Amino acid sequence: MKHLLIDGRLVETERTYPSLNPATGEEFDRAPDATTDDAERAVAAARRAFDTTDWATDRQLRIRCLEQLHTALVEHGDELRELTITEVGATRQLTHANQLDVPIEIFRYYADLLRDYPMTEELAEVEIRGQTHRRWIEKEAAGVVAAIIPYNYPNQIGFAKLAPALAAGCTVVLKASPDTPLTTLALGELIAEHTDIPPGVVNVLSSSGVEVGALLAAHADVDVVTFTGSTATGRKVMEAASKNLKRVFLELGGKSAMILLDDADFDLAAMFAAFMICSHAGQGCAITTRLLVPREHHDEIVEKVAANLGRVTYGDPSDPNTYMGPLISEKQRDKVDAMVKRAVEAGAKLVTGGERVDPGYFYTPTLLAGVDPASEIAQEEIFGPVLAVIPFDDDDDAVRIANDTIYGLSGGVQSADPERAIALARRIRSGTFSINGGNYFAPDAPFGGYKQSGIGREMGVAGFEEFLERKTLAMVVG
Ligand code: NAD
Repeated sequence: MKHLLIDGRLVETERTYPSLNPATGEEFDRAPDATTDDAERAVAAARRAFDTTDWATDRQLRIRCLEQLHTALVEHGDELRELTITEVGATRQLTHANQLDVPIEIFRYYADLLRDYPMTEELAEVEIRGQTHRRWIEKEAAGVVAAIIPYNYPNQIGFAKLAPALAAGCTVVLKASPDTPLTTLALGELIAEHTDIPPGVVNVLSSSGVEVGALLAAHADVDVVTFTGSTATGRKVMEAASKNLKRVFLELGGKSAMILLDDADFDLAAMFAAFMICSHAGQGCAITTRLLVPREHHDEIVEKVAANLGRVTYGDPSDPNTYMGPLISEKQRDKVDAMVKRAVEAGAKLVTGGERVDPGYFYTPTLLAGVDPASEIAQEEIFGPVLAVIPFDDDDDAVRIANDTIYGLSGGVQSADPERAIALARRIRSGTFSINGGNYFAPDAPFGGYKQSGIGREMGVAGFEEFLERKTLAMVVG
């Protein structure tokens, strides 16, 4: 069993709860179930480390620690890889990409950024009543950070919060998702055993309920809350954080559209759409879950997508040939299945899929055609391998449908004409957008949402600056 990390010590809890393998539905280990007292101790440790140590001001120490953590993840990543496969249901293939290997580079990116990032900025001198005033800005760590993460990409999301927060000089209480506690606690163990990160600078908690997250979001000693999860929970976090007006960073849900223009390569686009929707069984916030197609090509494209969905291999995520693993839980599978059934009742055509496969929480790749853009399946996040095909009349109609959502996380377009594709991309209200398969996801690229998909940006320089305060100083110099 893994341990909590509080104030530099790996600690056990009295209560534990089962961690399930979603590919079998069986308990494979137990996880510590932190109490609100544990959370209070973690916040106190983070507060003390921020207020009384030189962590926030010793840039060289922070660079060294980020590099050590990067090295530890590279050298000891295999245990984490196996845990991510077993607990998250991530496929081995995905752990070599966005579930582990790509995110590890986030630590190196922020170590490098910190070496060169200007923490002071000079403004022009001004003359006021015969005196010269020098003015400048000093950038400082924002303080104690509560980082609350979801189950789907615990490594990527945990690293994308922890690395820039530490680079900025913040101290952190990281709370794992109740569904994937051990993967996040393994990071805490690497920190305790392989880095010089001082006690209290990073604290890692897991708990089965919502009390610990709610306590962190509301806590008066927390300066920043960085949250990734559903839009519904994001609203609660923002409300709780308003008690002491702490800074709130939110990465929330999505309902992104992939638009195939009438000059697109439909064979290529259909393959891309099919494999995209099955990536991590559809449990990705930025996956394009709506496929917008020219009305006159609807049936032809549906046929091509269905053929590609039939080629998706699913099953044991540890098998290197498996493309798609299970959903995280029976609860999530029930939710997905109920949404598919309601979509059919609302008039969508079930072309393929819509089946549960046991043991484990598998759900077959599912295609719904002729979907009404106003219907639930086109408006609500599913978080399963379910693609909704929606016909449009012309480019303006495609843009209107794509933007007709409370979300604004991502999207994509396919066209033989790059200028036409870029012009369309500029009209979509989303934080990221892929043109002809372009990959926007990397440690140096800001990621986040417009509208109810969130507030702020993660990764890149923007992701670092989320954790900085700016102090404007002025001094009479002559
Ligand atoms: P969730 O909202 O149920 O839970 C997320 C986290 O919030 C968990 O750690 C949970 O314990 C905690 N939490 C629950 N109630 C809380 C409260 N009242 N106060 C504070 N914390 C609380 O999300 P989930 O089901 O784990 O993950 C799926 C959701 O995450 C999807 O909606 C998905 O779109 C979103 N997501 C977004 C991004 C992004 O970058 N935009 C990335 C991944 C996932």
